[in-house]
Amino acid sequence: MRDWVTEKILPKVEKPTRYLGTEWNAVHKPWDDVAVKMAFAFPDVYEVGMSHLGLRILYGLVNEQKDMLMERVFAPWVDMEEMLRQYNLPLFTLESYRPLSEFDVVGFTLQYEMSYTNVLNMLNLAGIPLRSIDRTSKHPLIIAGGPCALNPEPLADFIDIFLLGESEELLLEVLAVIKKNKKNGLRADRDRVMEEVVKIPGVYVPAFYDVTYQEGKFKKIEPNRPGVPKRIKKRVVADLDKAYFPTNPIVPFMEIVHDRIMLEVLRGCTRGCRFCQAGIIYRPVRERSPQTLLKQAEELVRKTGHDEISLTSLSTTDYSCIEPLINRLVNIYGEQGVGISLPSLRADAFSVGLAEEIQRVRKTGLTFAPEAGTQRLRDVINKGVTEEALLEAAQAAFSAGWTSIKLYFMIGLPTETEKDLEGIAELARKVVELGQKTLKEQGVRKRVKVTVSVSSFVPKPHTPLQWEPQDEIEVLKKKQSYLKSLLRDRHITYNWHAAEVSFLEAVFAKGDRQLGKVLEAAWRKGCKFDSWTEHFRFQSWLDAFKECNVDPGFYAHRKIKYDEVLPWDHIDVGVTKKYLIREHQKALRGEITGDCRFVNCPGCGICSRFGVAVVQKGGDTRNAAVKNRIY
Ligand code: SF4
Repeated sequence: MRDWVTEKILPKVEKPTRYLGTEWNAVHKPWDDVAVKMAFAFPDVYEVGMSHLGLRILYGLVNEQKDMLMERVFAPWVDMEEMLRQYNLPLFTLESYRPLSEFDVVGFTLQYEMSYTNVLNMLNLAGIPLRSIDRTSKHPLIIAGGPCALNPEPLADFIDIFLLGESEELLLEVLAVIKKNKKNGLRADRDRVMEEVVKIPGVYVPAFYDVTYQEGKFKKIEPNRPGVPKRIKKRVVADLDKAYFPTNPIVPFMEIVHDRIMLEVLRGCTRGCRFCQAGIIYRPVRERSPQTLLKQAEELVRKTGHDEISLTSLSTTDYSCIEPLINRLVNIYGEQGVGISLPSLRADAFSVGLAEEIQRVRKTGLTFAPEAGTQRLRDVINKGVTEEALLEAAQAAFSAGWTSIKLYFMIGLPTETEKDLEGIAELARKVVELGQKTLKEQGVRKRVKVTVSVSSFVPKPHTPLQWEPQDEIEVLKKKQSYLKSLLRDRHITYNWHAAEVSFLEAVFAKGDRQLGKVLEAAWRKGCKFDSWTEHFRFQSWLDAFKECNVDPGFYAHRKIKYDEVLPWDHIDVGVTKKYLIREHQKALRGEITGDCRFVNCPGCGICSRFGVAVVQKGGDTRNAAVKNRIY
């Protein structure tokens, strides 16, 4: 098949290297020598999926097992899909060019709600029934993980098994059950596998739960058989130094979104921004030691030839050994021309020293995320960054030679007023003025460039703001236009996200099983690649809601009461509801909560309930009270 596709199809599609599968470090295992075969399915294009660290980790981990293999499949771009349909070819993996239907397992990663239609499209292209109920042991098991799996209900009809939390803890256990149940090379009995895997902590099998609704509202979800947990706890890696990390990732032939080495310095973030789902679901903070990271960097540079090392995490500047680590990396790799980059930075943790270290090798882009334009609103969302800290960070960056800075903000946050929007423009202008002054003092004749990127608030499950409504689309649009009028400045570039997309994101983020039929209807109307502007069909979505008699505003625009059962209440991410309510109330009072790495533990609940702890390699800066706390 490979030869045929290469000859007949690839010359006719855009970016054929997306489909080659013969990249450096790609793993091609002999098919018949391996007991369990899994396809890792990324519901977006190659260049987005290949930038995903989770794929790199799981691909390496599974392929290191003697009797297991993992191959990759990405959402084919529309031209490739047309070819597949035209020639009646099933969707195949890149390594062996085998149809997905030949695998034991197809595992989707759910990074973003707007990729859900692509999940359905990929199943359809593979000839696999969309709904779990229509599949038999002739079909692969369809599993899913990733952040969106922590409210799995909108996809409950389509996914057989969800893996909750950090999958490297859990995936091999699930694959071992499948292996055990395979006889004479035949596919394992699907019901038996589901009955066995549901006993593994972190596994959720939606078919084993019944949902009751009352007047359209989600009322309860209960196991429909014995031996199934009422609440499912996510899985957490306790020690990152002992966790598997791939040092020979695939090096793509083409440019991908993050075309560089990713060194994961820490996981989790306890800054406590109240809108941020990642900050809750990846708790607690666990750091990797600099020794482990330096060893990994050495292998990664040698085995990939990349010329950039990105220190990734939710908040890299919070890494307790950040300055010595960067210093060591720059000393070792600077002369080889390997640059060091950091993703979005916290302004209050960005120092002159850090700026100087990074720019010793190369000036990569610099992004700060103040999120809101005034201190009052930053306190509401617990973004503890002050204007002073932001300006100091900007000053450090301009002095170290940067001329362009990106600032991220959010509009539509609870309690927001016009003054908060004006604050965004004022802050951006202050950064421009500071840059102009600093560059002038240094005799630099370059223009300062500030990019203001504005997204709309999406209330996400498991966060303190989950009970809050999202602004109506028209309100968000008015706010976007107002900001546009305020940001007319040749030094400022203003970007904003489509309000319609944020609306659908909110609907599916907080949705329940009733959305399954809408999702399928929208896909049947041609919706796919919904996060790609050129493919987003809002009217088709509205038609799908109407056809299914489901009001999307019910999910996005309603203020939810504390005593209402939430569709994700049966998923335990470690943080207690009591803590989330406390944080929500503090948000409405504009009170801040400190980071448990630096002040007393505010009692989110995960450490004692999950038997894990905050791990800081630069020394524990916290109090010890957390160990004995009762939640
Ligand atoms: S339990 Fe306390 S120390 Fe542990 S992550 Fe939550 S707030 Fe931090």
